[in-house]
Amino acid sequence: MPRHRSWAEPFRIKVVEPIHLLSRAERTEAMARAGYNTFLLRSDDVFIDLLTDSGTSAMSDYQWAGMMLGDEAYAGSRNFYHLEDAVRTHYGYRHMVPTHQGRGAEHILSQILIKPGDHVPGNMYFTTTRLHQELAGGTFHDVIIDEAHDPTSTHPFKGNVDLGKLERLVDEVGAEHVPYVSVAATVNMAGGQPISMANMRAVREYCRGKGIRVILDATRAVENAYFIKVREPGWSDRSVAEILKEFCSLSDGCTMSGKKDALVNIGGWLALNDDDLFDEARNLVVVYEGLHTYGGMAGRDMEAMARGIEESVQEDHIRARIGQVEYLGRHLIDEGVPIVLPIGGHAIFLDAKRFYPQIPQDEFPAQTLAAELYVDSGVRAMERGIVSAGRNSTTGDHNYPKLELVRLTLPRRVYTQAHMDVTWESVAELYEKRDQVRGLRMVYEPKYLRFFQARFERL
Ligand SMILES: *Cc1c(COP(=O)(O)O)cnc(C)c1O
Repeated sequence: MPRHRSWAEPFRIKVVEPIHLLSRAERTEAMARAGYNTFLLRSDDVFIDLLTDSGTSAMSDYQWAGMMLGDEAYAGSRNFYHLEDAVRTHYGYRHMVPTHQGRGAEHILSQILIKPGDHVPGNMYFTTTRLHQELAGGTFHDVIIDEAHDPTSTHPFKGNVDLGKLERLVDEVGAEHVPYVSVAATVNMAGGQPISMANMRAVREYCRGKGIRVILDATRAVENAYFIKVREPGWSDRSVAEILKEFCSLSDGCTMSGKKDALVNIGGWLALNDDDLFDEARNLVVVYEGLHTYGGMAGRDMEAMARGIEESVQEDHIRARIGQVEYLGRHLIDEGVPIVLPIGGHAIFLDAKRFYPQIPQDEFPAQTLAAELYVDSGVRAMERGIVSAGRNSTTGDHNYPKLELVRLTLPRRVYTQAHMDVTWESVAELYEKRDQVRGLRMVYEPKYLRFFQARFERL
């Protein structure tokens, strides 16, 4: 057996930001004050923040240098043209409209493509994506493969679309009521699971025959490209950059949150190949975001994102990014902790149903586990289960998703291996003490995206 050789982060640290660990008593108090919702904790009270990888990345010296080159002209900023170049070069779409973040792009896309009564199939929902589809009058339908809902299945591409489900839906509602298929790369809600190039191509072929567009949620498409390279036969010799471009070429446009793959703290864009749709998007962005050459971003933000896109497709970067997720996941697997398999691209997902089998789903096992983790070690995670799934708009009951997960999401280029060790050791200890834990009761429930602001009490 060849000796195992480690990779190391392909950067060195030039600036540090101190973080502090509160005492256990202070953490217990802080969690109660936050209503057992990690979204309501103060960041100062958090030691290792794995709430999200959204907008939490560390920018490089090259990006920070770009921030000083912001052209803050109202119209026609040079940084817009840099961003447009970066999107064309690396994602390959013809037109790009900047937006303040991903949901800005989703809003505009949904408004221009969806008519009331339309149906939008997708490979599992994402919270803001589905809400914008619904607010535009559409109904979302999950057409992901069944394996995606099974946290123990080790299918290498659990983000794949089930062509049979897609076909049945289109036959039932009629292709004219399906404005597009919403395909997400590395499906967040399934555990950061990729979609294969072969599946994407099959979706493309099917949709072409029916005259249905394919719109990609490209938020984590670089990570998806990396998984294609290492998991899908025939792609290991191609660069992540090449794979990304080929993958995007199988869609008609995309929405993008630059706060993920693109290594910035704020920003996003909508890309479209069709001239007329682009024209509509450019009209609408002025109403909701800003002029079509800044879309809610400062010039410097667009420059940082243009540079972040360049860095995001570098092999060293993406290998270390996903390598760190794997490092954390491997340790948890060795400790016997139930996690979603295979290990995904941006996060480890703890399977709260198997972690706390004694807690019924409507007593919020994942919400409970996230709270316990914070109290134990100051690590902040988030719930991705029944709270995130919201209520059925017709019956008013909770949606009961099959997956009841706690997400440990890794910001890019922010934490070290020692932070990962503190994290898995804490989870492992909670798992040893799992029998003693009881669930929560919801005492405040907001109307939209309730997981952000809901409050709970211990049962
Ligand atoms: C974050 C995210 C979005 C929304 O983007 P924001 O920048 O947070 O508005 C959409 N889709 C996916 C898959 C995401 O992860």
